[in-house]
Amino acid sequence: MNSIPQATSKAEILIVDDQAENLHLLSSLLRQAGHRVRQSLNGDMALHSVRAKLPDLILLDVRMPGMDGYQLCRHFKSEEKIGDIPIIFLSALNDIDSIVAGFEVGGVDYITKPFHVEEVLIRVNTQLRIHELQQQLKEHNESLQKQIRLSEKYLHDRQVADDRRQLLEKAIAATQNGIVITDPNLPDNPIIYVNPAFERITGYSEAEILGRNCRFLQGSDRDQPALEDVREAIARGEECRVTLRNYRRDGTLFWNEVFISPVKNERGELTHFIGVQSDITDRKRAEDVLQRSQTALKKANDELQRLALYDDLTQVANRRRFNEYLDYSWQRSSREKQFLSVIFCDVDHFKRYNDTFGHQAGDECLKTVAAAIAAALPRSVDLVARYGGEEFAIILPNTPAAGAEQVAERIRRQVENLHVPHPASDNSPYVTVSLGIACEIPGPEFSVDDLMAAADRALYAAKDRGRNRTVVGEHPSAETSHTSGRSHSQFRRT
Ligand code: GH3
Ligand code: MG
Ligand code: MG
Repeated sequence: MNSIPQATSKAEILIVDDQAENLHLLSSLLRQAGHRVRQSLNGDMALHSVRAKLPDLILLDVRMPGMDGYQLCRHFKSEEKIGDIPIIFLSALNDIDSIVAGFEVGGVDYITKPFHVEEVLIRVNTQLRIHELQQQLKEHNESLQKQIRLSEKYLHDRQVADDRRQLLEKAIAATQNGIVITDPNLPDNPIIYVNPAFERITGYSEAEILGRNCRFLQGSDRDQPALEDVREAIARGEECRVTLRNYRRDGTLFWNEVFISPVKNERGELTHFIGVQSDITDRKRAEDVLQRSQTALKKANDELQRLALYDDLTQVANRRRFNEYLDYSWQRSSREKQFLSVIFCDVDHFKRYNDTFGHQAGDECLKTVAAAIAAALPRSVDLVARYGGEEFAIILPNTPAAGAEQVAERIRRQVENLHVPHPASDNSPYVTVSLGIACEIPGPEFSVDDLMAAADRALYAAKDRGRNRTVVGEHPSAETSHTSGRSHSQFRRT
């Protein structure tokens, strides 16, 4: 008893025995060997103690009042965590059946009483060592399992990533958009990737392009404002959308609509630019054709408008425009209670002029006279129109008779001062005009036609009194009752 073998690893051991002296003896033995010891006198106490705190090993008596050692052992083995604790039976029963029963219910060893101190300690230590190794093995096993699961996950993730990459590669190869990737961290931002559509659109092979800057696509056509947008976006690391004139390998032009986007890494640093481009030449051509036909259409419309409102020969307003403006001015003067004057102006002896110089010279003369009349009307609200063959009509809004007379005289003088020879005329060696004026503040008692008729009568009077003169007509309202008023010409509204 003087050489107690020391345990290699100190453990906490629970001894379950109904014999107090057994408990005492074993406890002191194990304590001397360096273990910590807890004690229980019966099964219930033992269950309670183990559930409160797990021991490293249990020494269990078989024969006890109440729950015996086998039953208690089954309880322990049926509970999670507790089931792993090694149990050594200690019993006076040394028949083979009792020993086998101890192993069958889950004991790891069976020591018969009376026991030898060394034997108990060696068996206890052996079981502790085995248990420790088992635990290590279990942990090792668990960590291996964990590693296996991790590598399985890694392999699975890699497969998913591979599948994804393959899908992306196929999609990029399949798309009809040209795709180009450049590396702005290399000198001159060279192309590092192009897809098959890019090769198809440009006519260049990948080998001819890689390592070059995209600008070769513009050739010498560098004067494109959109290029400045591209340069700015690239300098700032921003995206942009532009349409550029690009040239294929065979030199033909194509319109390239490009979306350029920066590509960044996880740290947000610019690593690449991706350009997605489409050849929009067909669309652009269609747009150009549309644009050209729209321009032509607008021109034709403007011309039509002009033809509808202006006289072809003299370029002053035509009769339609005159009537339109006369109605408008009549309404307005009526509203504003202002004088509206109309001057009728007819070339004197124009038939003779034609007879003398020919119809073509007559036309030239009409143009000259029209221009002289227009030049005598500096106000933008005044309008001269060619009313008939060699007859002109002038509208002067906000103009009383005296003002209209001044204008008419200015016209008459300017025409005469043109000094267009007219040898067949009675009254002057030059082309002259006669003018008749009507003036009124429009009111409900007479119409615009009355105003026109009054001007016509005044013109007749001017002709009658020897031509090359102006006659201011009576108030049209005063004249409406005169049925005998003679008219010079076809100055009447249709
Ligand atoms: P009056 O002094 O009484 O006005 O005499 P007139 O000869 O000017 O008047 P009349 O109405 O008898 O003749 C007008 C002439 O103007 C007849 C026609 O040959 C000519 N005429 C009308 N329109 C045009 C035109 O567009 N071009 C030319 N060259 N002559 C025109
Ligand atoms: Mg006439
Ligand atoms: Mg005439």
